[in-house]
Amino acid sequence: MMLLEINDVRFAYHSSDVLKGITFSASGGEVVGILGKNGCGKTTLMKCINAHLSPHGGCVVLDGDVVSTVSRKELAKKMAMVAQSSSVSFSFTVLDAVLMGLYPNSEWMGSPSDSDMERVSEAMKATGVFGFADRPVTELSGGERQRVMITRALVQDPKVLLLDEPTLHLDINHQFGLMELVRSLVAEKGILVILVTHEIGLAARYCDRILLVDDGEIAGSGTAEEVVTAENLERVFGIRTDVHYDERIGGLAVTVIGKS
Ligand code: ADP
Repeated sequence: MMLLEINDVRFAYHSSDVLKGITFSASGGEVVGILGKNGCGKTTLMKCINAHLSPHGGCVVLDGDVVSTVSRKELAKKMAMVAQSSSVSFSFTVLDAVLMGLYPNSEWMGSPSDSDMERVSEAMKATGVFGFADRPVTELSGGERQRVMITRALVQDPKVLLLDEPTLHLDINHQFGLMELVRSLVAEKGILVILVTHEIGLAARYCDRILLVDDGEIAGSGTAEEVVTAENLERVFGIRTDVHYDERIGGLAVTVIGKS
C-alpha cells in the first residue's frame, strides 16, 4: 500500500515562515481535503509535496523515498499535480494537451500506442472533454480548460494526484461531477487524492479526511464530522455557521450565517 508521509515540513519564502511544521500521512484509497483561508500556506504545502519546493525543515516521503531526492522523471510516474494556474499557453488542441500527460518529462515521442490512445480517450470521456478534443486550448472557458488539465494529469496514471482548487472555475454541476470522478478513481485505482478547496460543503461530502490549515499549521485533522464544526469554522475563517446533519445529503450541511 502506497504511503505518503509529510514530516514536520517547514518552509519560508523570505523571512517569515509560511509552513511551520506540517505533519500528516495518507495512503492509497483516500481523498484528503485541505481547507484554510487565503494565504495560510495550502499551495506552498502542495508544492512541497510534489517537490516543486524543497522544505527548509522536515521532509516529504513517498513509499520510503524523500521526494526531493527523486528525479523529476521518476516522481512524475508516481505523482501528478494540477496547479491553480496550470494552463497551456500555446495553441495546442485539447487532444494534444492531454497527450502530453503520457510523456510528462520528455519531448513528444511520436505516435502513441493503441493502449495509450485508449487510456487517453477513456480519461477524456470521464471528464467530459472528449467532445471538444480538436479545439485549441486557448479558446476554452476557464472551467473547460480546468477539466482538460485534470484529464492530462489522469493520463499520467499517478498514484498520488494533487489538485489545487480543482473546482474553482466549475459550475455546480461540474463541481459534483469532478468530485464523483475523484471518488471513482480512488475506488477503482486505489490512488491517493489530496485536494485544496474553498468548497467546505463539497469537501465535507466527498473527502475521507479533512486537514484544516491555519497560518502554516494544522488546526484540525479528521473526518468531516470531527473537523467541519461551527467552532473550527469560526476560529479559522471568522464566520458564523450552522453545521448540521442533513439526511437528504447523508452528511453535513453548512449554512453560513455571516461574519463573526
Ligand atoms: P494559500 O494557498 O493558502 O492561499 P500560499 O501557500 O499560496 O497560500 O501562500 C502562503 C503565503 O506565502 C502567503 O502569504 C503568500 O503571499 C506567500 N507567498 C506565496 N508564494 C510566494 C512567493 N513565490 N514568494 C513570496 N511569498 C509567497
